[in-house]
Amino acid sequence: MSIFPRISLKPEVTEYLKSVFLNKEVLAAVGHQEADCRFQKLLTCLSHPPSYTCVRVSTHLAPLEEIRHKLGEELKKQTCSSSEQDVSAQILPHPRITDVLLLPVDGPRAVEQLSSEVVVGAQCGSAVLRGAHVFAPGILASPKYMKAGDVVSVFSDLEGRCTRGATSFQGKKVFVGNGVAEMDRSSIFCTDEPARGVGVRMVEPLYQSPSFDGVLPSLAFLQNLPSVVVGHVLGPRPGERILDMCAAPGGKTCHIAALMKDQGEVVALDRIRNKIDRIRQNAQMLHLQSVKAYCFNSTQAVSGDSAQENEGPPFPAESFDRVLLDAPCSGLGQRPNMGSTWSLKEICSYPPLQRKLFHAAVRLLKKGGVLVYSTCTVTLAENEEQVAWALETFPCLTLQPQEPHVGAGGMPGAGLSPEQLRLLQRFSPELSWDQTETTTPLQCRADGDTIGFFIAKFLKN
Ligand code: SAM
Repeated sequence: MSIFPRISLKPEVTEYLKSVFLNKEVLAAVGHQEADCRFQKLLTCLSHPPSYTCVRVSTHLAPLEEIRHKLGEELKKQTCSSSEQDVSAQILPHPRITDVLLLPVDGPRAVEQLSSEVVVGAQCGSAVLRGAHVFAPGILASPKYMKAGDVVSVFSDLEGRCTRGATSFQGKKVFVGNGVAEMDRSSIFCTDEPARGVGVRMVEPLYQSPSFDGVLPSLAFLQNLPSVVVGHVLGPRPGERILDMCAAPGGKTCHIAALMKDQGEVVALDRIRNKIDRIRQNAQMLHLQSVKAYCFNSTQAVSGDSAQENEGPPFPAESFDRVLLDAPCSGLGQRPNMGSTWSLKEICSYPPLQRKLFHAAVRLLKKGGVLVYSTCTVTLAENEEQVAWALETFPCLTLQPQEPHVGAGGMPGAGLSPEQLRLLQRFSPELSWDQTETTTPLQCRADGDTIGFFIAKFLKN
């Protein structure tokens, strides 16, 4: 039985998603009962984390087996140094993706709730469910006299209603585990500067997974499986010039540079200035010199003067061998996501921006170059409908097969042919979601039990 509610969405958003998952083409393909069952499973699985942690390893710096062994040693220190249990036996290589290690997540576990409550924001609550400790800025409410060393239960605020500095909260919240306060309440809320560092160290999380805080920073990078697949599908080669148009915090940028053995150039753009530092820090941490990060609005990234060759943006048309458009999106595939307060208007604001970015992407790509479009959402409007629009708008583009193809095909509903849908890669956790499932080996479960994600690969002729 689930101890978790389904994802909490505005009714208008639930209705919209239902109309997507029960669209005419889906009903014709699988029938009403199956389509509705998939939709209900989607709402449930979105609020739960995947049953494993995915780590992308720096195979440009060391062989996979060596990193696997080192990771085992590090994680053994976290559990119990005297334990005879071989932790590295639980760290499994992905059967097809050569730079991925998978670690099982244990949960939901039976954890008893305590009377002392700390309430955290939804984003912080989701991070705790994936193995993080509670960082002080994520804390919204704590007991009035909370002292460092107190044992507390941590709850995630589902509807964004808890006021910062509250001493209790009666709104909708979900229990995510127990921890020990590392700070007094006064150090969290009554300071001129926002408090930093771990506020509550989780000792009995609902979902137990290793903490990667400071663990092999140059060799092990936490990344969702579909995001790793994106880098491989783009297929960068050493010496090429690649553009990552919406790059922060740079997980995919760094993967691209690593796949190129750090030879060539990966230009990373993002519109938000303070996110650029994150891209640079990640590249530095992973020892990658080929990443060049700039703060820039990618819709404006094509320069008017094709003769002008700047080092940074804007760039002349046809400047790049490959372009990744990992588009800003409604993010409705993220897991765990226990609640979103977004309106339908906010969700529907993304497709026009994605199309503007797509126009720039096509212009910046060389003829014969590869364009990959990806999102971490589940709507048709941001995925298959964008592909249908792109094929109609840019006759120079053709859909390409993807390697590896470990997700499902595209979802019917946007008028694409069955052959075109087969070329798309949609990660649809609802298709394999089964809460009681514990017997299937982790390596077989991994490709289905992911965040919701979408990938399309095009060639510019
Ligand atoms: N590719 C990133 C990774 O793997 O780490 C995640 C990218 S996230 C899905 C989308 C990013 O697009 C955000 O960081 C956002 O700031 C950026 N963004 C939104 N509009 C943009 C624009 N017009 N130009 C450039 N970046 C933009």
